[in-house]
Amino acid sequence: MHPAGAAVALEPEAAAKQDAPLRVLLIEDSAADSELVNHQLKSGGFHFVSETVNTAEQFRQMVRTFHPDMILADYNLGEWRGMDAVDILREEGVDIPLILVTGALGEVMAVDCIKQGAADYVLKGGLSRLPLAIRRTLQDKALRAEQRRGQEELAAKVKELARSNRDLEQFAFVASHDLQEPLRMVAAYTQLLAERYKGKLDDKADKYIAYAVEGALRMQALVRDMLAFSRVGRNGAERGLTDFNLALSAALLNLRAVIEENGAVVHAATLPTVKADQSQAIQLFQNLIGNALKFRGKEKPEIRVSVERQGAHWAFCVADNGIGIAPEHKEVIFVIFQRLHARSEYEGNGLGLAICQKIVEQSGGRIWVESEPGQGSAFKFTWPVSESERK
Ligand code: ADP
Repeated sequence: MHPAGAAVALEPEAAAKQDAPLRVLLIEDSAADSELVNHQLKSGGFHFVSETVNTAEQFRQMVRTFHPDMILADYNLGEWRGMDAVDILREEGVDIPLILVTGALGEVMAVDCIKQGAADYVLKGGLSRLPLAIRRTLQDKALRAEQRRGQEELAAKVKELARSNRDLEQFAFVASHDLQEPLRMVAAYTQLLAERYKGKLDDKADKYIAYAVEGALRMQALVRDMLAFSRVGRNGAERGLTDFNLALSAALLNLRAVIEENGAVVHAATLPTVKADQSQAIQLFQNLIGNALKFRGKEKPEIRVSVERQGAHWAFCVADNGIGIAPEHKEVIFVIFQRLHARSEYEGNGLGLAICQKIVEQSGGRIWVESEPGQGSAFKFTWPVSESERK
């Protein structure tokens, strides 16, 4: 029997350059077997120190003080089994691999030990396999540690990203909200200037004032859309049921003047009632139909709003006969501030579709476009079927 605490340090040339020796704790009650294992480690090229224990108390003590990297345990020690060490390791909250080194172990028993937490087992009759088993076990452990580190890093990054996203949203909301008031003043007073002094100063002054008015109005529209964008998702937890027929009607009412101006026709199918914020549903239809009118072709605009059930989702479609979109632009148009045309060609600030996407994705759906240049566009989005209709 080996007294606990007697360290055996062996340094084969092969591994002499490594810095810290591998700390091996043997659970073994036969001095001869312990020697054999040490010999095997030495001839396997390990740079190591080892300790030997043979009772549960000694083992627990050594786990705390010797800090082993690897445990080699005899299966049967009379009073306790080497496998009980796995429980002690768990109690101590440490992840140290344990390899059973045992006289005889049936296949079933071996599989059982591995299920309980042993990393591997080596028969005493085949000790030459021990170095390989140790190397593999250490590699597995290093890999596990690396994976864990990777997962922790990823989780920390996701958390940080969510935080900075929240900050940004809050910033956008506060900025656009607080900009409204001073902007209202700038717009109102430049408009007043225009009314009061038009024709009373020189031509240049008229032109400059007109530019200032135009700029202020454009900025107001931009701030209003930015606020709409950052509002999506705020207070969104308590969404009730919204009849999409009513939302569509409200959107069409808001667009009435443009619809009439363009002589447009809108065909609408009967739409379902779903869980949604009503004003967001109106905004969604208004942005899509507004775009269908804005990006019209030579013919009179004809817009079709349709829907079909696809399992747990409704698939909506707003199709037009307008100018269409080239394949390479189908994704980028949903990105905030992304536009395909100069403002002189088409008014806008590139927020409309970004708002639509945010509204749809908040509900658990997705939005995309199917289109060919000159062939019209079909904006499609999915929306979850409401709980009551799912049953
Ligand atoms: P905006 O309308 O202010 O430019 P949007 O985000 O609503 O911003 O749209 C982004 C771009 O997508 C538009 O500039 C336009 O090029 C394209 N687009 C959107 N809707 C249509 C449509 N119905 N037909 C053709 N192009 C469209």
